Amino acid sequence: MLVLSYCHRKFIRLDIILMLMQFEDLTKQDLELVEKAKDVIRQRKSKRSTVGAALRTKNNKIFCGVNIEIECSAPCSICAEYAAIGTMVSEGENEIKTIVAISSNRQYSVLPPCGKCRQFISEFGNPSVIVQVNGKLKKTKLSELYPLPVVSD
Ligand SMILES: [Zn+2]
Repeated sequence: MLVLSYCHRKFIRLDIILMLMQFEDLTKQDLELVEKAKDVIRQRKSKRSTVGAALRTKNNKIFCGVNIEIECSAPCSICAEYAAIGTMVSEGENEIKTIVAISSNRQYSVLPPCGKCRQFISEFGNPSVIVQVNGKLKKTKLSELYPLPVVSD
């Protein structure tokens, strides 16, 4: 793999970064969550919504959401993870166990959370995040993807 990534002020190969990260295989529950994320974006796909997210809480409840793109202002758009977390919080839950997002624009493949979402998700624990590595679905802790979140005083 020739993709390079900027890390610790040096360019190092992405495959080396991936070797250093810890991944786990998916469980049956994780695969169910992937299907939930696919289902929500299949059902709600539109010009505004192309990504679906599903999360499982520590209390084993599942919440889903889709992204909402606003034409007049990209910064006002929200990611699918935000929508799923908003529903979770509205229902009184506050800790995520596992989260996944699916892109309908990429043949319904898994999409890693964007940088803004990584910070947002970090406010709700250190969940497992389902990602695609070398074509295979794996899960890793958010802290592997985002080791230094901003924390308030
Ligand atoms: Zn995002």
